[in-house]
Amino acid sequence: MDLSVFSSMESEVRSYVRAFPTVFDTARGSTITDEAGRDYIDFFCGAGAVNYGHNHPAIKKDVLEYLASDGIQHALDMATSAKRTFLETFSEVILAPRGYAYKVQFTGPTGANVVEAAFKLARLATGRTGVIAFTHGYHGLSMGALAATANSWFRDAAGAHLGDVVFHPYDGYYGDDIDTVKMLEKLIEDPSSGLDLPAAVIVETVQGEGGVNVASAEWLRALRELCTKHGIVLIADEIQIGVGRSGDFFGFEESGIVPDMVTLSKSISGYGFPLSLLLINPELDVWKPAMHTGTFRGNTVALVSATSALNNFWRDPEFVAGIARRSELVRARIDSIAARYPEHFATRGRGLLQGLVGISDNELAGRISRKSFELGVIVEVSGAHDEVLKLMPALLGDEETLVRGLDVIESAVDAVLAA
Ligand SMILES: *Cc1c(COP(=O)(O)O)cnc(C)c1O
Repeated sequence: MDLSVFSSMESEVRSYVRAFPTVFDTARGSTITDEAGRDYIDFFCGAGAVNYGHNHPAIKKDVLEYLASDGIQHALDMATSAKRTFLETFSEVILAPRGYAYKVQFTGPTGANVVEAAFKLARLATGRTGVIAFTHGYHGLSMGALAATANSWFRDAAGAHLGDVVFHPYDGYYGDDIDTVKMLEKLIEDPSSGLDLPAAVIVETVQGEGGVNVASAEWLRALRELCTKHGIVLIADEIQIGVGRSGDFFGFEESGIVPDMVTLSKSISGYGFPLSLLLINPELDVWKPAMHTGTFRGNTVALVSATSALNNFWRDPEFVAGIARRSELVRARIDSIAARYPEHFATRGRGLLQGLVGISDNELAGRISRKSFELGVIVEVSGAHDEVLKLMPALLGDEETLVRGLDVIESAVDAVLAA
C-alpha cells in the first residue's frame, strides 16, 4: 500500500494512520475496505463517531434526498427547516420521554468546541472561574478543554499556561474502598482546604480515552448531590459514551442523575458528519445573543442525518435491546479471554465500550491491536499507558460480523501471548 504522500506531505502530527497503516476507501456497516480490496471489521467506530456503523442506508437515503432537493447547506444559526425538524424530533424522541427540559445550543462542530462552550457558560452563570476535572479524563485539546484533559502527552503540547482547572481522583482511582466524592466534599466544605469553590465539575460517566474507567451509579449520585448542595454546575461529557454507547442514549441515565449541562458530539449526527450540541438547564442559559458564536454551528446536512438516526433507531425499542445483546456478547468474550489468561488481563466497561486491560505488561494491548489489524480488525488502545484494548463495535448490524471480530481479537491475543 503506497502511503508515501501521507508521510511526505502530511504533518508529523498524524496519528491513527500510523496505527492502521493502509489507505481506506469504502465502508459499509461494520466493514471498512482499503484500496487493495482488503476488508477490516471496525471495532473502533471513529472513537464513537459512527456508532451506527458506516454509511447506514436509511440515513444515506435521507441525506441524499436533502442534497438532491437543494436543501440549504449553510445558514450560520439562522432558522432552517432542517434545524426545526431536528429540534422537534430530538425533543419528542429523546428529551421529553426522559422528562428532560434542556435547552439546546449548537456549538462549533467538534467535541472540544462544545466543551469550551460549557465551561464559558458555567463560568458566566456562576461568576466563578474554577473547574474540577477528574484524573484520566479527556475533554478535547483546544486550550480551555485541554486544561481539563489529564494526559501529560497532550498537556505538554499546550505551549501556554493551562489554568483554572483542578484535578480530582475519579471513582476507583485509589481502589474501591476510597470514596473520592467524600474527599471532594471535605475539600469543598473546609474553608482552609485551599480549594476555591468551582464553577463546574466535568465528568465522563465512562472514561473513553482514559482507559474505559466506569463511574458507579452511587458515585455519580453523590457527585450530583454535592454539586446541587454547593451550586456547582455539573457537566456530563457524553461525547464518547453518549448516543447509545452505554446501552442507553445517555451514559448518566442508568444512575438517574440529571446533569446541568451535557456535551454531545461524535455520534450525534449518526453518519460521521461533524455536529455538536450543548444541552443546558434553562436556568443556566444566561448567554446574551451572539456572545458565543461560530461559522459552522448546526451544519444542516448533519442535522438531517441526526434526525434520520433518531427516527430510524431511537423510536425502536428493538434497537436498544439489540445494544444490550451485543454488549453481553462482547463482555462474555473478553471475560472468557481474561479467565483464560488471568495473570495478563482484567476487564471493565459498560455497554459497547469495553476494555480488555493488560495487567502484566503495558505493551500488551498495543501488540494485540497491531496483530488484530494484521488479521483484519480495527481496534484501538486507550489508558494512561495505552494498556487497555478498547472494544467499540457498532451498536447494530449482523451478529455474525460481531462474533467474527471477537474471534479475530481472541486469535490475536493467543498469537501475541504465544510469541
Ligand atoms: C473525543 C472527545 C472529546 C473531544 O472531541 P473532538 O471532536 O476530538 O474535539 C471530548 N470529550 C470526550 C469524552 C471525547 O471522547
